[in-house]
This record gives sequence, C-alpha cells and structure tokens, in this order.
Amino acid sequence: MKTPVMKPSAWSLLPSEWKPLCKELGLPAFRAEQIVTGLYQNFAQSWEEITTLPAGLRATLAERFALAPLATVHIQESPDGVRKLLLACEDGERIETVLIPSKERVTQCISTQVGCAFGCAFCASGAAGCVRDLTAGEIVAEVMAACQLLRPAPPAGFVPPDTRSLLPRPSNIVVMGMGEPFSNYDNVLRALRIINDQKGISIGARRITLSTCGVVPGIQRLAEEGIQFELSVSLHAPNDALRDRLMPVNKRWPIATLMETCRAYNEKTGRVVTFEYTLVKGLNDQPKHAAELIQLLRHTPCKVNLIPLSPVEGFEGERPDQSACLAFLDALLKAKINTTMRQSRGKDVDAACGQLRLRKMATV
Ligand code: SAH
Repeated sequence: MKTPVMKPSAWSLLPSEWKPLCKELGLPAFRAEQIVTGLYQNFAQSWEEITTLPAGLRATLAERFALAPLATVHIQESPDGVRKLLLACEDGERIETVLIPSKERVTQCISTQVGCAFGCAFCASGAAGCVRDLTAGEIVAEVMAACQLLRPAPPAGFVPPDTRSLLPRPSNIVVMGMGEPFSNYDNVLRALRIINDQKGISIGARRITLSTCGVVPGIQRLAEEGIQFELSVSLHAPNDALRDRLMPVNKRWPIATLMETCRAYNEKTGRVVTFEYTLVKGLNDQPKHAAELIQLLRHTPCKVNLIPLSPVEGFEGERPDQSACLAFLDALLKAKINTTMRQSRGKDVDAACGQLRLRKMATV
C-alpha cells in the first residue's frame, strides 16, 4: 500500500502554518492571511481565484502546492435527501462521501482510505482490501466538495460580487466512510484539525466524530491529543467468539483490552465513548445478546448507537425486523444505558460504507 508522490495540497496545511511558510518565501505576514482567507472564507478552488495575491506569487505557490477540487464522478441522490458523492483523486482512485441532511443539520460522512484492510464481515469497504491512505489534503477536499454542493444556486440573473463567501458548511462530520481512521492516524488528525480550525473550515470539535473498528493504540493516542472530538468504537458483538467472526481486528485487540482502553480514554479525557452496534438478524440481535451487552457495558461510561444492518453483497446476514431492533433498544434503555438507534437513511443510494465504490468498480 503506497500513497503516490503528489504535489502537496494547499488544503494539507494548517492555517497557522502559512505564516512561517510565507516568511520562508520572504513574503510579508499579511500574505499568509490573504491565502487563508482565500482558501477557507472564499473557498477558492484554484490559485487563480485568490485575486488578492499578485499573479507572480500565485504562480510560485502553484508550483509548490496543488489547489484543485477532487473531480466529482457521480452523485446519487435518494428521495430522503441523502446525497452520495463518488470523487476521483489525482491518481484516479475513487473515494466516497455522503451528505445526510436532517431538520437541524447536515452531516457529512467522510472517507480516510481507499478501501480498508480490516475486513469486517458486513462492511463493503473492506471487500477489496486497502489500496492506500488518503492524504490530509484529500480528506479536507472531501469537505470542500460538500461545501460546493451545499452552495445555494443564486437567483437567475443575480451575480453577487463573491458567491463563494456565502458557502455554507456541513454542520457535522462523521469519519465513518471508507477506511480505518486510526490506520492513517497522522493524516486524519491533521485533516480534522484543519476542518475544525476557526480559520479553517471551522466545524466545532464536538460536531466531529471519529469512528474506529477498535484499533487500541489509536484510541490511546487520541486520548493524549487534548481535543474534543467525539469517539465512536464499532463493537457489534458482546463476546469475543462472535466479535472474532464479525471483526478480525478482535483477534488482535479483544473485547477486554478494548473496554479497558475505552475506560482509560474516558478517565483521561472526561469524554464518553459511543459504541456502534450493527444489528444483524438472528446473529447478534437476540435478547440474550442484549443481556450480555448490558453486562459488558455496566462499568463503562458510554453511549450505544444501534444500526440496523444495510444488507451488502458478499455477506449473508439480514436486517432484523423493526420489532427485534426496538426490543433490543428497549432492553438497553431499561438497563439505563444511553442508547439511540440510527435511522437508516440513503438505503436506495447504497449509502452503507464502501458500497458505491464497489458498485462503480463493477460497472465503470
Ligand atoms: N473503520 C471505522 C469507520 C468506518 S465504518 C469503523 O469501523 O468504525 C463506520 C460504521 O459503519 C462502523 O460502525 C461499521 O461497522 C458500520 N457499517 C459498515 N458496514 C455496514 C453495514 N453494511 N450495515 C450497517 N453498518 C455498517
């Protein structure tokens, strides 16, 4: 797995890194501010668009840093408003990101790798292994693509001086697309800091959720970062025998180690971990599984998010009936575990992790 050598993206630098860079180039400090404003307030999609900079400087910067959006290959829109974007990287690899609107927010689900190496049984992202890590600039570019899409069309004939400055952002980010974020830790954290930075895309830390399949060293590292991102851990099973079958990562970091790490994370950061639990008919959705899960979580401050399975090719499991999902939810709530059930949205756009890329690989 190798990330190709590409010119670094302008979106891979933290806003604060432009000042020392300008100094290095012998430029006055206000140039750094113009660059950051151009990138993150006016959402420039090329150096040419940052017209506050002299042409010569734009050319110099263009030599060192790429500034170009990811090409949108395909957009699928479902009747419930969920939009799934298939984007092409410079080397032709494809990644996907999903925009999920609700009454009071627009959540964007972003990818961190092309494919995934962890091979969870029901996850389409792992079906073809991991091709490569995404760079920080590519991850930020996913959010930039969403910003472009969320831009309201100006009324006919109206040409405001700068439509880009009107760009809305997604209100929430979930790192639940393709890939395992803690396998690409440095690039993911750098990208999230740029997305979070007030001078960057400016999405609040508590509105950014990282999801891991249970990479223990990643959780330990995140605990030391001193940032307020939310952490989700994909659990999916209440015991090792079942989790081993669903998630090969469990053989490396079994449940006891994972739980201990989550408790330490909570003690260190004061933040509560959310456990994701995908419900699969007959396999992990029975009352005995709920009872076992309650026992397991008894001493860990946490939340639980239940996700009814999105059926995927290559995995025989089915989505449980609504009544089984509700019974599971009820059992956890009765045991005073803070539990929510994720509404499955975007079913008709293959919005389960990695599905669109797989389908397009088959047809394009
Ligand atoms: N690698 C990270 C993030 C990507 S997956 C992780 O494992 O957490 C994001 C979430 O979607 C995980 O909880 C994952 O298990 C879940 N998921 C993947 N495929 C799914 C499917 N077909 N149905 C329901 N949930 C799925």
